[in-house]
Amino acid sequence: MHVLVVGAGIGGLTLASALREHRVTLVERRPEATGIGAGLLLHRRALDALERVGVRVSGRPYPGLSLGLADGRLLPLAAKPGRAVSRPALHAALLRAAAHANLHTSCVVETFDDCDGGVRATLSSGQTLEVDVMVGADGLGSGVRRQLGLPARRRYAGATCWRGITQQESPHDHPVELWGDGLRIGIVPLLEGTYLYLTSTQPAPPERSTPPLARFDHFGCDAPALLRSVPPSDWAHHDLEELDTHSWGHPRVPLLGDAAHGFTPNLGEGAAQAILDAEHLAACLQGAGRYPGARRGRNRRIALASRWMGALGQATGGAARLRDTVLAMFATAPAQA
Ligand SMILES: Cc1cc2nc3c(=O)[nH]c(=O)nc-3n(C[C@H](O)[C@H](O)[C@H](O)COP(=O)(O)OP(=O)(O)OC[C@H]3O[C@@H](n4cnc5c(N)ncnc54)[C@H](O)[C@@H]3O)c2cc1C
Repeated sequence: MHVLVVGAGIGGLTLASALREHRVTLVERRPEATGIGAGLLLHRRALDALERVGVRVSGRPYPGLSLGLADGRLLPLAAKPGRAVSRPALHAALLRAAAHANLHTSCVVETFDDCDGGVRATLSSGQTLEVDVMVGADGLGSGVRRQLGLPARRRYAGATCWRGITQQESPHDHPVELWGDGLRIGIVPLLEGTYLYLTSTQPAPPERSTPPLARFDHFGCDAPALLRSVPPSDWAHHDLEELDTHSWGHPRVPLLGDAAHGFTPNLGEGAAQAILDAEHLAACLQGAGRYPGARRGRNRRIALASRWMGALGQATGGAARLRDTVLAMFATAPAQA
């Protein structure tokens, strides 16, 4: 079987790793298939799936995640245990596992159509490939989804976001997310240093790539000092978005990961579900099961739960005060630095 995978992101590379026995061509729009961004939380199910397809990634184990108020009062540990990984380290591990694939960088699929039970795709390099299956793993703004004429559109999810890494250690040994009035800070200890993310419901300032740190000065858990220890040019900025509807493509041109169901990152599930989609699709392509099968309902439920979590975490004004009054009943005192 010859599979053309469009997008060498987390989902596309996982699929390529799982299809080690087959011919795989990977097409990536960027000049290098590296991991962009800071860190990532991966729960046990995603880590197990990665191991099954031969990807070993090191990271800092965590027993769960604590939500808390802006002043640092924390709720009891919740969420699934897993590992906090650096995105570049995850990508490097995925690329090693997918080394058998023929990778074309700075390349996109210009056109594709049906041919003899398969798909004929013309690449921007001018090359034409005849493959059995072409998979759209090209993220939230998927060109494959658009070329298939599927209706899903990107939708602003009500907040803008910055991500960075500091070499300083977090005061906590597990990930913590603090909620303020329209503001959130995530503090995630890595094997080395700490991954930080910020969200704000107010628009980004004109110099969008640098976060407006003064908005976060009243937060606890040493957060303001940690934020200021990130070199200003190391922050990555983008708006939070999701797809307004999910679509999984066609049997010969299936979609996976964000291309199929891109949801908000409020539950830290996007990469994990892209990995699980890829493992399931690889099994289906090899005759075991139907795609997307149960993944359709599972991802719809996660998208809804993630949207709900975002509404709670991004609450402003009276809604935020009401939320904090309720949370305070279950929270413990702020951690001492
Ligand atoms: C702030 C934030 C925090 C997050 N935290 C977590 C977390 O803790 N845990 C978690 O599980 N998930 C998290 N996510 C979600 C996660 O990053 C995504 O869901 C995941 O990367 C999706 O993987 P993917 O392979 O579907 O798409 P992507 O990783 O986006 O990969 C798509 C690839 O396709 C390429 N591409 C795009 N267009 C084309 C084209 N036309 N032709 C060829 N190539 C193309 C891109 O360059 C890219 O390499 C977070 C997301 C955000 C925004």
